[in-house]
Amino acid sequence: MIRNNKSRGRPPRLTKTAFLDYRACRKAFWLRQKKPEAIEWPEQDDQGELRKKFGYEVEATAVEFINGLFPPDILRFQDEFETPEGLFARPDVVKENEDGSIDLLEIKSSNSAKPGQIDDLTFQVIVAEEWGARVRNCSILHLNKNYVRKGELEVSKLFKLVDVTDRVRQRYDELSGLAHEALALLQEEAIDEAGCDCRHKTKRHHCAAFAYFNADIKQPSFYMLPNISEKKVNAYLDQGLTSMLDVPTTGLTKRQLKTRMAAERGAPVISRDAIRRFVASVQWPLYFYDYETINPPIPQCDGQTPNSKWPIQFSLHRLSEDGMLSHAEYLADNYDGQRDLIKGLLASVGPTGSLVAWHASFEMRCNETLGKLYPEYAPALTGLSDRTVDLEVPFISDYVDIGFKGTSSIKNVLPVICPDLTYADQDVKDGNAAMAAWVEMTDAQGPKRKAELRQHLLSYCKLDTLAMVKIFKFLQTI
Ligand code: SF4
Repeated sequence: MIRNNKSRGRPPRLTKTAFLDYRACRKAFWLRQKKPEAIEWPEQDDQGELRKKFGYEVEATAVEFINGLFPPDILRFQDEFETPEGLFARPDVVKENEDGSIDLLEIKSSNSAKPGQIDDLTFQVIVAEEWGARVRNCSILHLNKNYVRKGELEVSKLFKLVDVTDRVRQRYDELSGLAHEALALLQEEAIDEAGCDCRHKTKRHHCAAFAYFNADIKQPSFYMLPNISEKKVNAYLDQGLTSMLDVPTTGLTKRQLKTRMAAERGAPVISRDAIRRFVASVQWPLYFYDYETINPPIPQCDGQTPNSKWPIQFSLHRLSEDGMLSHAEYLADNYDGQRDLIKGLLASVGPTGSLVAWHASFEMRCNETLGKLYPEYAPALTGLSDRTVDLEVPFISDYVDIGFKGTSSIKNVLPVICPDLTYADQDVKDGNAAMAAWVEMTDAQGPKRKAELRQHLLSYCKLDTLAMVKIFKFLQTI
């Protein structure tokens, strides 16, 4: 229900999402609102869609929980408030009190009440009060991280209701000021588009609009130097330098120097001895392995806690010293397929030989999770972790190519080392899409769609481990 829609025909409304955009960056907010065509903003990925789906499930379950706490006739879900100035809010739950005041409650999929969520809720309170409501208490309903599912879902134990009224009131004045500043900015038809604050920050802060606001930055820019500090960024800017080819070599770390050298030469910088040592250090046969995981907010089977990471698939390529390659895989049909996954993995790995993973701490954490779930397999899974070597290591500083864009991510390394091996033809192209496809597979009604998604997932994960095989073979040629 629109509680007040007098603002029809007025300038655009400021929703909570737009306000959060403004808080993150006023220039990016203005560009998105006033010149949406200026740049291609990243589309919401499959993970975003999946998060939304999970969010709806949490909301539906939370409504059940809330209805058990209060009489239904004093609750309003997704009620709307809009002020004449254009502030717009839709709190998850409004509870009417006997004295005419209201309480606001936000439902969150996280395991605790985070500072950003307090700010979300404060925005809702500001809008409701500027509309004319009197807000008495504010609460966040989040998931209980200590809840472990056993049998049927126990909704009464799944959530924690936290009163955050004091925290909201502490944030009120500052955020109210910012909300009105954001509204005023929406009236501006032009802003200074030369440069933006992130010019003075490292690459991880940059958003999709960085190049638009900083068109003068020469490529390859010094922002691509691995682990460059903010202090160095500003020192270079003070000297009028933006290209990594122009920055002095003194003061660069070994890895940064190699990256700069690779850019200068247009060819990789290779520490051959270190790579030979890495290749010689592995024990044959080699088992290249990779897990896919899912982390649903609402525990779906016994042993799960809210938002816990849950291995659902593995791919394993076995490479023997004489070049023989074989493959094993497992993909769970449901959330509770971990025992079969463990059995399948252990049956495919022989008693000797190294396991190889990319960014191996992830696979080792999965081994630990599975070991906790089924303690009888814990020693064997720990044994796998003990034998695991990380194929990412040589690409941190022993093989550096400017095509890696200053990172050692396999998504950047693979197209440079093995350009023929590509994910472009795959229906599932990354880990986020794999999670979304797996959830769709478990929900799919017809066997045809289920089989199709199963095939996409198997093909994607198989390519992940085949990519490692190819990269390792490449290192052998050095
Ligand atoms: S890169 Fe520029 S526009 Fe983007 S968040 Fe940073 S300061 Fe804002």
